[in-house]
Amino acid sequence: MPNKFIYVFGPSKTEGAADMKNTLGGKGANLAEMCRLGISVPPGFTISTEACTVYTEHGEAQVRQTIEAEVRQGVAFVEQEMGKKFGDAKDPLLVSVRSGSRASMPGMMDTILNLGLNEEAVRGLAEKSGNERFAWDSYRRFIQMYGDVVMGLKPESKEDHDPFEVIIDEAKEKKGVELDTDLSADDLKQLVGEFKAVIRSRLGREFPDDPWEQLWGAVMAVFQSWNNDRAKLYRSMNDIPDAWGTAVNIQAMVFGNLGDNSGTGVAFTRDAGSGEDLFNGEFLINAQGEDVVAGIRTPQQVTLEGSRRWAELAQVSEADRGSKFPSLEELMPRMYEQLLSTQTTLENHYKDMQDIEFTIQEGKLWLLQTRSGKRAGAAMVRIAMEMLAQGLIDEKTALMRVTPDRLNELLHPVFDGQAIAKAVVIAQGLPASPGAATGQIVFFADEAEEWVNKGKDVILVRQETSPEDLRGMAVAKGILTARGGMTSHAAVVARGMGKCCVSGAGAVRVDPRARTMTVGGKVYNEGDWLSLDGTTGRVYAGQVPTQDAELSGDFGTLMQLADRYKHLAIRANADSPTDARVARNFGAVGIGLCRTEHMFFEGDRIKSVREMILAHDEAGRRAALFKLLPMQRGDFEGLFAAMDGLPVTIRLLDPPLHEFLPHDEANQRMMAKEMGVSYEDIKHRVDDLHESNPMMGHRGCRLGISYPEITEMQSRAIIEAALDAKAQGHDVNVEIMVPLVGSVREFNDQARIIRATAAAVFAERKASIDFMVGTMIETPRGALMADTIGEQAEFFSFGTNDLTQMTLGFSRDDIGKFLPHYLKEGMYEHDPFQSIDQEGVGQLVKMAVEKGQAVRPGLKVGVCGEHGGDPASIEFFHRVGLDYVSCSPFRVPIARLAAAQAALKD
Ligand code: ADP
Ligand code: MG
Ligand code: MG
Repeated sequence: MPNKFIYVFGPSKTEGAADMKNTLGGKGANLAEMCRLGISVPPGFTISTEACTVYTEHGEAQVRQTIEAEVRQGVAFVEQEMGKKFGDAKDPLLVSVRSGSRASMPGMMDTILNLGLNEEAVRGLAEKSGNERFAWDSYRRFIQMYGDVVMGLKPESKEDHDPFEVIIDEAKEKKGVELDTDLSADDLKQLVGEFKAVIRSRLGREFPDDPWEQLWGAVMAVFQSWNNDRAKLYRSMNDIPDAWGTAVNIQAMVFGNLGDNSGTGVAFTRDAGSGEDLFNGEFLINAQGEDVVAGIRTPQQVTLEGSRRWAELAQVSEADRGSKFPSLEELMPRMYEQLLSTQTTLENHYKDMQDIEFTIQEGKLWLLQTRSGKRAGAAMVRIAMEMLAQGLIDEKTALMRVTPDRLNELLHPVFDGQAIAKAVVIAQGLPASPGAATGQIVFFADEAEEWVNKGKDVILVRQETSPEDLRGMAVAKGILTARGGMTSHAAVVARGMGKCCVSGAGAVRVDPRARTMTVGGKVYNEGDWLSLDGTTGRVYAGQVPTQDAELSGDFGTLMQLADRYKHLAIRANADSPTDARVARNFGAVGIGLCRTEHMFFEGDRIKSVREMILAHDEAGRRAALFKLLPMQRGDFEGLFAAMDGLPVTIRLLDPPLHEFLPHDEANQRMMAKEMGVSYEDIKHRVDDLHESNPMMGHRGCRLGISYPEITEMQSRAIIEAALDAKAQGHDVNVEIMVPLVGSVREFNDQARIIRATAAAVFAERKASIDFMVGTMIETPRGALMADTIGEQAEFFSFGTNDLTQMTLGFSRDDIGKFLPHYLKEGMYEHDPFQSIDQEGVGQLVKMAVEKGQAVRPGLKVGVCGEHGGDPASIEFFHRVGLDYVSCSPFRVPIARLAAAQAALKD
């Protein structure tokens, strides 16, 4: 066990620093770092993450005993720095208790402000500050937060409102005012009484008066919150280990609720949605803590420029903006100048976009937090590229700054240009998180999940979101909130998720009880269609079609940069010329897998395929195959033309034949009629083809071995197409691939047919072309026998889907029954079909590469399973020395970046 659990920070002494995130959590480490930079931060101390581990493992009593003496020293330090006493009735030191884990988890854990107040101290605070309203406002806030977070007074059901907010709403109504700030000291005093009464009646306990009891309650609640459901969910969604634990920060309060020359706000050093290099933020006058984020009042903008842009979107006139919603820059120019210079200091110091929290207390600026800001995928790319251009970071850092999977968002669909021009705008909100979304309205997060499970697309519509809504936000196509600004919970979380979000659409009235939303007198019900443009903030009625996006400028630059660092080549899995062109546009340098059977379903080809399957003898099969030949040849020719100059790997027929036949009676009858045979004939053949384990049945090269004429037809189609494409002036680079090989004899059998067919075609055509014959390595035996197979096969392509399935003995079609539980219980860390099982399946890959290359130096090795597009798997494939990975066309950019990052990690 460590012998130190407490690290202080303040003007006279700071023990922590930014590189101590593991011990201090992100918030604590950065508070210490800001102190070191000479920035004004209220003094405090951090209880280390190790204490949380003691709590989790040994419980409350043990952790308290372990850290009590140090916590007392910490409080004494803050008392000295502030010149006030904790628990003093005349001039009390108040503190905040804030959680903070290593990775930032926004809104995941709850902060308690103004701790240390009681009936006596609140009077002392009133007297000392000369501001009675402020004192009671602080006290009612404290009771509210503590009552919720520590004592657990929550709404009783999802339709219910927060019990404290209900009391506040009643008070405002009774008084006929709209805003919290309109409540007087007496009103607030009254609220305190009612808050305590509701706690007493609902929980059967008194609100604690003793500051130390309050402090320990809060500290334990923070530890506890590490294991609350939403924190766990966030961790599982973001791959944050449960074992990390959270730190606790105890910090002297500064007050933004002292009146009109105080306030609190949040700002970003660059635009988190677009990435534009523009300082921006929001604040509220006479407010505290989360008021800005919670959407309680309409926040004002920090900069004048931002304020003007906001006014345009919010449809507020310049006169109204200037009088009702002036920017901080206009309202408090001196504070603004300080904030501007602080944000510059911070960004230059951290060399990344910062998300900062500040409070102004009677004309003095305090920083409460800084961290690398969450950002939309597009912003991630733009910020990295612009910081590189600005000389703030180097190429390597720029490449590492972008999370490969987030590139997905830049490839997301956008609204179809013509359709959107005709669509009806019903409301204008803030462009909180870019993207286009269309779906049916739901009003609750859990219902969003239910609907999505039924296969529906939904838009989650809320007054404002809270961390409880996380699950629903994750599955919705888009999020619309009536309240809240650009820094609201919904906006921040949506950007982090890469989810389209429009926030603060003021014209929208949400009534969750009635499950309706009203805009301009028109009522929209649950289930009605709605479309959102998160880039413009517009809300449209109805379902607006979308279209695919293209690579933008910064994106292109990033990709070029990635190509300069990566070793792996990135190919695509593509079955049609259209897919091949998309892949090529995204930078694929070849096709790693063309699944010939996908072509069998097009048009009425399936008829010929079925004829072949139903044929009773070879002659019948050949006749049917003969009809397929020209169609396959045409497909391949298109593919070769699209991939001119680049390699194209074509796999021979792979799936079990029953996949091409209908399985229900109605369709079987229809097929019988079409083919002029009896229904019984069809049914008989289907039953005949039935297998208990089709994935391990009659498929792959086993088909070509049973029916050599299939391999013959496919080889002929490929070679003839290659010759045709070559004759048209294309540079053709063919790789023919035999699936599911476990023995070199299987490979030899098929390779012989392929080569003989090619020779025949060359003789007929009096022309020839180079081609390669290789194999998939996708059965464990194939991997084990890679040395003998490698002597014959000219390339290996790992089919990691089948290899995973057979190595783990997990049927991919049945994992739904046990994998979720398995993952929860930690039997495996990841879904092995999504990210390759490096320690198990990975050994086979590594071994087969070594064996194959030992007998055939320079043997070309690649991967064509789903794993080829997964960044963690790509890193592994890079390490074992593969030549290429092949993934779906839309993942090609992700794979390019992931391959560069893998190379940079060497
Ligand atoms: P989160 O992790 O959810 O961001 P924080 O711990 O940052 O929660 O607390 C939320 C807000 O509470 C901060 O943004 C800040 O405005 C306010 N706050 C926290 N501690 C203090 C303090 N010591 N003085 C004034 N405000 C504080
Ligand atoms: Mg914060
Ligand atoms: Mg396979």
